[in-house]
Amino acid sequence: MTDKPLTEMTPVEIDTELSRLWNDEAQAEARRLSLQASLHKQVGDEGRRVRGARGLVFSLSWEQVLEKALMKALAPHTEFEAVVARDVKQVLTNWAMAARELEVLAAEIKPYVDEYVRRGRWNRVFLAQSHDGHAHNGTECTTCHHGEERTQFAWLIQYSGKTEAEIVADAGWRACTTCYPSAPVGDEKTLPTKMFTPDEETARKAREEREEVRTRRAANKTAKGITAPDGGPLRDRHGSRIETERAAVIEATDGLSERYKNLRIEQILTADPDLTPFFFDRDKRTENEARDRSHAMNLIVAIAHKRGVSDEEVLAELEPKALAKAKRDLGGKDWAPRFRYSASFHEGVFDAYTAKCKAEERKPFEALTLRWAKF
Ligand SMILES: [Zn+2]
Repeated sequence: MTDKPLTEMTPVEIDTELSRLWNDEAQAEARRLSLQASLHKQVGDEGRRVRGARGLVFSLSWEQVLEKALMKALAPHTEFEAVVARDVKQVLTNWAMAARELEVLAAEIKPYVDEYVRRGRWNRVFLAQSHDGHAHNGTECTTCHHGEERTQFAWLIQYSGKTEAEIVADAGWRACTTCYPSAPVGDEKTLPTKMFTPDEETARKAREEREEVRTRRAANKTAKGITAPDGGPLRDRHGSRIETERAAVIEATDGLSERYKNLRIEQILTADPDLTPFFFDRDKRTENEARDRSHAMNLIVAIAHKRGVSDEEVLAELEPKALAKAKRDLGGKDWAPRFRYSASFHEGVFDAYTAKCKAEERKPFEALTLRWAKF
């Protein structure tokens, strides 16, 4: 509420008050109607639904109901009637309170409406929330309320008192040409609107938030994503697409580690040449190493391209990781026991080897646990 005299209030200020009061009035009126309906029921007048009518239609007039209800409330003859009387009295009291509230509200509303009329009825904007979605100057526009249900409106109070030109400009395609005769005719494309109902605003905000999440996700993907330097897809050794830089780093490290595994195997075989049958032969290992290294170098070129650094710089970063990976793959507490266990399946070779070690009085597979040389 403002303390300004009515004559000094702006149309927006007056309509803000009116909107609040009319809302209160609508709620009180709904309460009054629902109490009246239950009084009809309490005096035995069940309502009927009639097509085209709002709410229930009753047989008795309100005066008849009131008279019967008062009789029930004031002159109960039996114990049962006394219980009913109490209920009826309660509903009557609530009804009287709602009716009184409506009187008070009507008295509060009147000066604001009078002021609106006194000033020659300024422009207002009501957006139809159902029906055609048009912006109207009032809620009783002749183009509205054609359906079974009355058209629902969102009152855009910020436009109260604006000129028709201002309203028509913002309303765009939504301007009702009956209410605002100067409005041009167009559609959503040719006459975009700046007016939205609260529901539309909520939907628009949700849409913008979804859009933002999508954009952020796409940017994130670009940040983490990787392609070949020519923009084509990057692939792993099995031809599957590598999507992220992280996956490329892992795959390249893996390829580089093949060299360190070979050096380690050579170290073991130098210490114990009798283990040779348990590994791939040297040619095969050399071939795999060359293939995996060349594949790793392709990935390193892509990683360097993406980071904007030299290939050497990426290679220098990944070599120590490749060595560490080789140490994990051909080392660790249970690598030697596992190796020995799988070797035992090559029965003939295994038996010959263990027999030879026995004869030479040395522990079999001991070379597997050698300290790693510096590669
Ligand atoms: Zn209209």
